Amino acid sequence: MQEVLKIEGLTKRYGAIRAIDGLSLEVQKGQVFGILGPNGSGKTTTLGILLDITRPDRGTFSWFGQKPTHLARRRIGATLESPVFYPYLSAINNLKIIANIKGIGYQGIDDVLELVGLYGRRHSKFRTYSLGMKQRLAIASVLMGDPEVLIFDEPTNGLDPQGIAEIRNLIIDLARRGQTIILASHLLDEVQKTCSHVAILRRGQKLFSGPISALSKETEVLELSSDDPEKLASALKEIDEITDIKKEGNLLLVNSRGRFTAAELNGLLHDKGIMLSHLNLRHKSLEQEVLKLLEEPA
Ligand code: ATP
Repeated sequence: MQEVLKIEGLTKRYGAIRAIDGLSLEVQKGQVFGILGPNGSGKTTTLGILLDITRPDRGTFSWFGQKPTHLARRRIGATLESPVFYPYLSAINNLKIIANIKGIGYQGIDDVLELVGLYGRRHSKFRTYSLGMKQRLAIASVLMGDPEVLIFDEPTNGLDPQGIAEIRNLIIDLARRGQTIILASHLLDEVQKTCSHVAILRRGQKLFSGPISALSKETEVLELSSDDPEKLASALKEIDEITDIKKEGNLLLVNSRGRFTAAELNGLLHDKGIMLSHLNLRHKSLEQEVLKLLEEPA
C-alpha cells in the first residue's frame, strides 16, 4: 500500500468552536475515502487545511509521505476551488481557459470531456447545461493536468436526482480507474455507494474510520435487566468473556462477540443466583448509529 495522505492530531478552533479536534487519519493510494459527518462536523475545515486554504492551530499532515509543498499541491485536484465558468463559452473554450491558468496544453481536453460524459455537448454553451452537467464540467476542470488525488466537497449538493446519479456514477467510474479520491459528504447513502473507506466525524472528532463494509456489519448485543441491577452488573463483571458492559436506561448491554448465546448467559447468571427480568438479543450495526448521528442537530 502506498500512503497518499496522513493527518495527525489536526486541530482548528474558531473562537469557542472546535471545528476539528485532534483529527488523525490515513488515506492510501486507490482508496475512495469518504469523510462523513453532519453539517458543521468539520469536513470543509479539514479539506481547507489539506489544501492550504486554512491554517490549523495544531497537528500536521503530509501528502505522498512528504511535508506539504507547492509541488505536492499540484498533484491534487479539488472542487473546493472550482472555477466560475463563462456562461457564453462552450465547454471546450472554458476548459482552454482552465488549461491556460494551470499552465498546461489543450491536448487533454477531449479526454476529460469524454471521461465526464460531456464530449457530445463539448460545443454547447455552458449556460445551456443542466446542473448535473455543470457539476460534471467542474469535475472535468479538476481532472485537467491529471492530478493523482481528487478532492470533492459535497459533490451532489443542490443537484436533482438525475444529477446526483450522474455524479455518483462518474465518481464510481473514476474509482474503477484506480483514481484516489477524498470525498466529504453528509449523506450516508452517497458515501456507501461511492466510497471504499470512511471516516465519521462528529463535532470535529473522528468517531470511526475503516472500510465501508464495516458500517453494515452487524454486532449482537444482549439486553439484560434484573430487579437488582447492581448485583447483575457485578455478576457480569465476574464472567471473563464479557469485556464491556454498557448501561442504557434500566438495561445493561453486553456484547457477546459470538462467544455465548442468550440462553448460555442466562444459565451462567442463574448459577450465580441472578434471575433476569429481561433478556433480549439486539442486532446493531454502525450504519444505524451513523444514521442517528446524521439526523442529530449540529
Ligand atoms: P457543512 O456540511 O455544513 O459545510 P462541515 O462538516 O463542512 O459542515 P465546517 O464547515 O468545517 O463543517 O464547520 C465546522 C464548524 O466550524 C462549524 O461549527 C462552523 O460553524 C465553524 N466554522 C467553520 N468556518 C468558520 C469560520 N470561518 N468562522 C467561524 N466558524 C467557522
